Amino acid sequence: MLQTVAEHFETWLRESRKQPGDFIVVLIDKILAGAAALSASDIHFQPSRNGVEVRFRIDGVLHILGCLPLEHSGQIAARLKVFAGLLTYKVDVPQEGRVRSGRIEGIAQEMRISSAPTLFGERIVVRFFSPENQHQSIESLGFEEPVRQLLHETVTRRSGAVLIVGPSGSGKTTTAYAMLRELANSGETTRSIVSLEDPIEHAIDGVAQIEVSSRSDSGGAEHGEKFRTLSLDRMLQYMMRQDPEVLMVGEIRERRTAEAAFQAALTGHLLISTFHGGSAAESIGRFLELGIEPFVLRSSIAFLLCQRLLRRLCSCSKKTEQQLEIRLQGNNLTVRQYFEPCGCSYCGGTGYTGRIPVAEILPLENEEIARAILERRATGILQQLAREQGMIPLVENVVRCIERGQTSLPEAKRVLGY
Ligand SMILES: [Zn+2]
Repeated sequence: MLQTVAEHFETWLRESRKQPGDFIVVLIDKILAGAAALSASDIHFQPSRNGVEVRFRIDGVLHILGCLPLEHSGQIAARLKVFAGLLTYKVDVPQEGRVRSGRIEGIAQEMRISSAPTLFGERIVVRFFSPENQHQSIESLGFEEPVRQLLHETVTRRSGAVLIVGPSGSGKTTTAYAMLRELANSGETTRSIVSLEDPIEHAIDGVAQIEVSSRSDSGGAEHGEKFRTLSLDRMLQYMMRQDPEVLMVGEIRERRTAEAAFQAALTGHLLISTFHGGSAAESIGRFLELGIEPFVLRSSIAFLLCQRLLRRLCSCSKKTEQQLEIRLQGNNLTVRQYFEPCGCSYCGGTGYTGRIPVAEILPLENEEIARAILERRATGILQQLAREQGMIPLVENVVRCIERGQTSLPEAKRVLGY
């Protein structure tokens, strides 16, 4: 039987106390190696009144490992900050830095370590750049048919904006990277590909990758960020002079970047980017709020894909053939059958293994939808119209996944809300 994360933590604590050398130093090494072995994406060291809580994020869900005495808080922060070359004596400002792969024994992934001052001490978050994402192709992302086809077709496009929308942790960056990788490897013709990222997560052959700060007009760089001096919008305008055919912009966060990106898409470049938003229709509204003209959206966006990641049920799940009325993301829906998570040794008792992507695509080439965008229609109206014009909304795709036993009802509610 596999151990839970809390049981692992107990073991690491016991072993660290027995080993020679400083307890915290030994323990931190074990926590980092353990997180890598359990495929955690993040580790949190959060000081509170009761001590420093240690948590792992696995498949998008936080798991509490346990608590360390608060008196170790400073030492924990210092140890982790040293790895990333951060200033240990500066405890009142946020800092961020990277740890290259191989820097710490037994950890092949690259890490980003950030610190922030909180009421009870410095909160440290370690983020792993997953090696899985490094090799993800469009094919291996796991999207279903119309979406997979659409993503493949993107590679043959010459212009327009391809936008991947979703909240953080929805896998949108992974999808954008997979498209970029396919563009770089498609082989039919060599294309000039430039990507602007904050931060660069993985090196991709055939792509000129530039690390930028996504804060518009960033002034002096903080320590540990010295290479990120140019803001995204300025670098984007500058790179237009370097004859790119394909541009990837890590994430559009503000007006000037959005303007420069859509301008590029309108002038014969293929632009791939991500945008924070709850639904495809909502993101159109958010672009309008940023001050982007509706005709620019209408003529530059090739397609807009909104996605989420749901934990995949392990094969130990149990089927219930019973109809159920549910509420998801504000919609009343009917589920004809569903599967419940159980837990076995394979899934470590969680009932889930890995994640599956679910998406909706806003058909912007549709005349009715184009007109609604030009008329600045409200999100709700646009959403309803898209549905009438054939868009299968995200929630309905999620219901299909529930009925097929790919994911569970509680998981759908966790990700989409009631
Ligand atoms: Zn299982």
